[in-house]
Amino acid sequence: MDYGDSHRRFLKCLMAANNVVAQNKMIEMYCQCRNGDDDQMPEDATLDVGIPKFIEQINQKIEQLNLSIKLVTCEATGEKFYVLYTAQENELTKLVAARQWGQNERTVLKTIVRSIVSSSHGKVTLATCARDCAELPDKIKRADVVKALGTLLRENWLIEVDGHVYIGTRSMVELKKFLIDEFKEQAGICKLCKELTLRGESCPSNCGVKVHQTCKKVYFSKSKKQVCMGCSKPWPDNDN
Ligand SMILES: [Zn+2]
Ligand SMILES: [Zn+2]
Repeated sequence: MDYGDSHRRFLKCLMAANNVVAQNKMIEMYCQCRNGDDDQMPEDATLDVGIPKFIEQINQKIEQLNLSIKLVTCEATGEKFYVLYTAQENELTKLVAARQWGQNERTVLKTIVRSIVSSSHGKVTLATCARDCAELPDKIKRADVVKALGTLLRENWLIEVDGHVYIGTRSMVELKKFLIDEFKEQAGICKLCKELTLRGESCPSNCGVKVHQTCKKVYFSKSKKQVCMGCSKPWPDNDN
């Protein structure tokens, strides 16, 4: 299959979903985009082959616009999401970002991300978000914090699960450079999926290897020995 209407339809749907779609919704979305009105399931609607190939075809096309789609694991829920993001900062993307966000959204996002990363469980309550934003030098009004937070949650920069706010997958890819620069201690690249992790587990023998907890679980469920993928020393379970 060559790049065509199906791919264009998919891109439109992804953008309408604020650039983030859960992997477990992909089959359904793929079928809708492939077929138009017809609801027959295409044979290649598979998460391991057909869909990655389809995404690769789109990536080849949108590369020239500095855009890309990739599969990212959410550190809050362990779910995987396809995220459309800006592959390279340039004037155009800065302009787009500036138009999408007001000053409040920017400040609130930075403040909340800092609170989340410095918290012990990688999440903060909505009340903490409001309090931290109220303490900023340019004090944002509570109503404006709520409004900005609403936008950030709706656009997948942050996610809310059971009254707690976590960093969303969109931030993990779009703000990767900011997160790595800002949180040198917590940020690392997962040895298994090569993506950014802020809440990853470090090798107990301190060889420097860091992995997502979900990546580690999958890896150990398939390997014979539970040893570090870097230094080969034992890596016991540490489920807490
Ligand atoms: Zn990983
Ligand atoms: Zn190690």
